[in-house]
Amino acid sequence: MSDEKKTYTPQEDYALIEGAYRSLADAILEHNPGIDLGRVRSAFEYADRAHSGQRRQQGTPYVTHVIAAAQICAEMRLDEDSIVAALLHDTIEDTPITHEDIARSFGSNVADIVEGVTKLTRVQFTNREDEQMENLRKMLMAMAKDIRVILIKLADRLHNMRTLDYMKEEKRLQKSLETMEIYAPIAHRLGMQKVKLELEDLALKYLDPVGYTDIMNFLSEQCIALDKFMSGVQKGILRRLKDAGIESSVQSRIKHTYSIYRKMYTQKRELTEIMDLCAFRVIVDSLSDCYNVLGQIHDMYRPIPGRFKDYVATPKPNGYQSVHTTVIGEEGIPFEVQIRTWEMHQVAEYGVAAHWKYKNGDQGLKSGDEEKFAWVRRLLEAQQDSDATDFVHELKMDMFDDEVFVFTPNGDVINLPAGATPIDFAYNIHSAVGNTMTGAKVNGRIVPFDHVLNNGDIVTIITSKNAPGPSRDWIKLCASNSARTKIRQWLKKEKREENVQQGREMFESELRRVGLTAAYLNDEDVVAAALKRLSFTQLDDMYAAIGYGGLTSTRAANRFKDEIAKQARSASHKSVIDKLNEAAERRSSRSVKAMQGVLVEGIDNCLIRFSRCCTPVPGDGIVGFITRGEGISIHRTDCPNYLNALKNEEESRRWIAVDWAERTLEAYVTSFTISADDRNGFVMDVATVLNTLNAKVRTLNARSHGGKAILNVTVEVKNLTALNQIIARLRGVRGVIDIQRGNT
Ligand code: MN
Repeated sequence: MSDEKKTYTPQEDYALIEGAYRSLADAILEHNPGIDLGRVRSAFEYADRAHSGQRRQQGTPYVTHVIAAAQICAEMRLDEDSIVAALLHDTIEDTPITHEDIARSFGSNVADIVEGVTKLTRVQFTNREDEQMENLRKMLMAMAKDIRVILIKLADRLHNMRTLDYMKEEKRLQKSLETMEIYAPIAHRLGMQKVKLELEDLALKYLDPVGYTDIMNFLSEQCIALDKFMSGVQKGILRRLKDAGIESSVQSRIKHTYSIYRKMYTQKRELTEIMDLCAFRVIVDSLSDCYNVLGQIHDMYRPIPGRFKDYVATPKPNGYQSVHTTVIGEEGIPFEVQIRTWEMHQVAEYGVAAHWKYKNGDQGLKSGDEEKFAWVRRLLEAQQDSDATDFVHELKMDMFDDEVFVFTPNGDVINLPAGATPIDFAYNIHSAVGNTMTGAKVNGRIVPFDHVLNNGDIVTIITSKNAPGPSRDWIKLCASNSARTKIRQWLKKEKREENVQQGREMFESELRRVGLTAAYLNDEDVVAAALKRLSFTQLDDMYAAIGYGGLTSTRAANRFKDEIAKQARSASHKSVIDKLNEAAERRSSRSVKAMQGVLVEGIDNCLIRFSRCCTPVPGDGIVGFITRGEGISIHRTDCPNYLNALKNEEESRRWIAVDWAERTLEAYVTSFTISADDRNGFVMDVATVLNTLNAKVRTLNARSHGGKAILNVTVEVKNLTALNQIIARLRGVRGVIDIQRGNT
């Protein structure tokens, strides 16, 4: 390692650059000969001009880096636009070239990709807590609208890691840590095993140089013995398969340094105690040959029970397929054999990149596929652990569409609901920040309070001791409940008089709206009874609560209306209640307005909620429950909560008739629970069915319970027919025992 900078002559520069370009061109010809080399050449020349005069740490011309990154992309078999974009990937960041410039010369597709890579490059990683790492990985994935952005970023990182020797010690550690924590896991989730393994080994080399050197030395000491062992096994298997008439390629390799390193730590073993240093791979032409080979190998060597894994029948979440078995060799040395077809091999090595090439030739992803891909991407993302054996535990899917990841000026990642504004951000940091906020900047520019934040934005909150504090309008500008609650708390505490005044106005206007006059406020009996039911002792407290938003004026007015009706009844003042009813009838006969697709007898404007216990959809028999202050909650007529509640006399009066309107909404949220045999790949299979049905999945939670997999699924559907269709299809998934509406 040296930080000496060598000086290169122009002739040496030329030789280096042309040499790098030639090997890029060779890689393209080898892996993707359909690519237009003329276009690649002109991107190379463009990049060469743009970076002219810039040098890397070791003194070589900067452009050699982007050529090398493009070569890695070619080896990943990426498409033409990706390779062109890889050549240009540092131009926006490091030269005056803009998105428009690139779009003009190479098309907007390439320009968008380069811009995407630039955004990721600008994400600053400092040493972070573990939970931050997970957020960062998610953010990187969410930021890259085009998967090629991530793939180019991986190529960029891989080349930087290969040339890390020339960086300063501190930089080396920081980059290695990032690689281990962010980039290798992403490569893994995308199934890009080859890239992942190389990134891990390179990172280990700098993170634990002693451990790394120990393993390297040990392996080189064992080199002759290992070679002999490997070629013995390899020849044995080859001969046997040839005799059996199976066409195959048998590869042997020493395991990667990092996987040996991990084994030492997780199994707390000395290096010399680690027996299985080699692995073998048999690649065959057909699926049936995979199992034939397995039979032959189990016949040759004794298999270790419990180590056989069939990822062919049940692929790993990242798409990996192979049959794995571990057997004991002649000298009692165990080794693993992976058996797969050539196509599975491509996927195992190149992950998503291979899928994409197989499916779409060289066209890249089509927009429909990209949509499909987003779903797969989320699913991959949700898998904390790659190992399909414990896939079902604690799998929780949070759709990215619901979240946005932004930075504080210090580089901490803050996770907010989608649609969040600087107000949400400020209250997420601390109430005091929100309460003294006077302005906000996003990526250095002043923005209005209602500015919607995007992934990767750096948000700065401007505060002042003399800030007037949050205004009531802010509540509408928040996307997070916590911010709303904090604003209300402040309003409640700081603005009592204003709240009382405002609350009174809101309440009186609501009274008028339901056909009552403020005169009733002079009726002490009515006021006392209504306040008691609302848990207040005086009217001003109730007004204050309405003012800061702790109580809705509708709820308060309804209590008054109830009490007035009650008193009227008890005093036999029938006329009042009659008038009320008349008014209600007039309204209902004039126009029964459907609310969220539901008709409520006698009421044409109230809050409608669909109960979470039974999540009704159009087509279900329904009934309404008048909640305390939260409108009418709609249940199914076969909902156990409803059936139970009917036994209670007091409560039963609060149930009212409702029906579906002729026109319902486009989508209703509903849940169902699948119980199934706990088997590998089950969640993936369910996800695939939901995907082929174009079902809009909100959440998908899996857990394991008494040997069974329990999956709670929340979807949006139009009606019962659509829901039944989904359920019917899911019953066909292997292992499904039962599907019940609702969450259990
Ligand atoms: Mn770069």
